[in-house]
Amino acid sequence: MTKIATLLFSLLCIYVQAQSNQKNILFENITIISANGESVKSQLGYVLIEGEKITYVGAEKPELSDAYEEWDGTGKFLIPGLIDSHVHLANTAGFNGQLKKKYPELVDAYFEQLPRSYLYHGFTTLIDVNNYAPGRINKINQSPLHPDIYTCGNQVQVMDDFMMEMEEYPQAERYQFHFLHDTYNKKIVFPDSINFAEHTPEKIISEIKRQNGVGVKIAYEDEATGMRVSWAQPSKEIMTALVLEAQKQQIPVLLHAPSLEGHQFGLQTGVQIFAHGLWNWSGDPKEFLNPILGEAHKKALRQIAQNKLGYQLTFRALLGERDLISPSFSTDKNLDHVYPKAYLALLRTEEGQWGKKKIYGRTEFLKKTNPTFYQALQGEYTNNEDVWENAFKIYSHRINTTARFLAEYDANFILGSDTPAMNMFTNPPGYNGFLEMKHMFEAGISLDAIFKAATFNNAKAFHLEALYGKIERGNIANLLILNSNPLETIEAYNSIEKIIINGEIINRDQLSALKE
Ligand SMILES: [Zn+2]
Repeated sequence: MTKIATLLFSLLCIYVQAQSNQKNILFENITIISANGESVKSQLGYVLIEGEKITYVGAEKPELSDAYEEWDGTGKFLIPGLIDSHVHLANTAGFNGQLKKKYPELVDAYFEQLPRSYLYHGFTTLIDVNNYAPGRINKINQSPLHPDIYTCGNQVQVMDDFMMEMEEYPQAERYQFHFLHDTYNKKIVFPDSINFAEHTPEKIISEIKRQNGVGVKIAYEDEATGMRVSWAQPSKEIMTALVLEAQKQQIPVLLHAPSLEGHQFGLQTGVQIFAHGLWNWSGDPKEFLNPILGEAHKKALRQIAQNKLGYQLTFRALLGERDLISPSFSTDKNLDHVYPKAYLALLRTEEGQWGKKKIYGRTEFLKKTNPTFYQALQGEYTNNEDVWENAFKIYSHRINTTARFLAEYDANFILGSDTPAMNMFTNPPGYNGFLEMKHMFEAGISLDAIFKAATFNNAKAFHLEALYGKIERGNIANLLILNSNPLETIEAYNSIEKIIINGEIINRDQLSALKE
């Protein structure tokens, strides 16, 4: 090439790079923290990112011919972007159906901020485990800054399952679902029009693959919820068949099963991931308020830990409910960064506090549907508010005990915050994941184990480790620069300086909802 041509060519390169806002950047003298299957490693060194990939990691400065920018990381910590593998992106944290209808412009503002709120808290990869909503996810993917998003396709349901019952779908509508036909459950009668060939495990799993699902989610709920079982549970046989089919297609099965019986069911049928911690002890009324981790619980948990099954504690699904009745949660300053101002203002009004009424309203519901359960729950208390405060104390004691027990056996924790469960405002996008990590720490899980849960373990559980979860050559440059060491303090995850998403470096404050 002539000199002029070379000059024009390099100008063009600079132009292209400026357009994509992606440069080659060499991080220097930075503490690199990354986990693999065995351990968490921390080393001072250099990391080069070119375009959207990590192309060099090492203690020595690499020899480079191409143009790149140097970034001095002295005193800073470089970690992989965090992964939350239990989110529901189409749900609105804080808004129920009524509010959504009444304030559509606030809902728009919520969804516009949503991807930035996750990034603000360092979550660069999300796995949406159900409420499959490709329209919503496409919209998020079109926004200029957003995490990398994966889904589990449609949630798998057997006919008349827990979810269908809770949502009170009319029977005729249920037959239109892409349900899994449980041939072993003879109690359910179908109309002749159903073509069962469309509802086999093979068909269900191939549909999830077609939807680009990276996992398969199914629910098992029982009387330990405090509700009388009026719904159908998947049989062991159909569940085993589903797991085998998913295995063939190399995607894990996630089981929603927060009870002892649910955990045992998951173990017997070979699921790879438990989507919730154990906080419902058992269907036995005598056990409703028992805080002690029994031998049967220990046995199931030990097996889960030893088999290295993925385990999402989802503290926030439970403690988010507790926070609904706490007087202080809505004044938390961290909420200002993740909820748009007008949206948050509404959440703080009487109208926005519907969740509290929902919790207290359970009393009347339970008295009607399961008086034995309610009596056990009520115990000595006469005041409705005290009943629920006490109940949450016991439930959170259980989940803490469960977490600690699993940690002793070096369980394969994977970070899942269940954001937002039940549309609760106490499950704020992004911030909820940080709260989840704090709960893990407070329960007694080590900072190393929490780091692994939020990075490598999560990527591995969903077969995404070639792309995410570690700082290695070839991985996508989804990284965080922290001001303190996450292996020394849990607060490090809330002292993020920069978020790097697909090679693009963003200052944290650019992502805050306070930034208009
Ligand atoms: Zn969930």
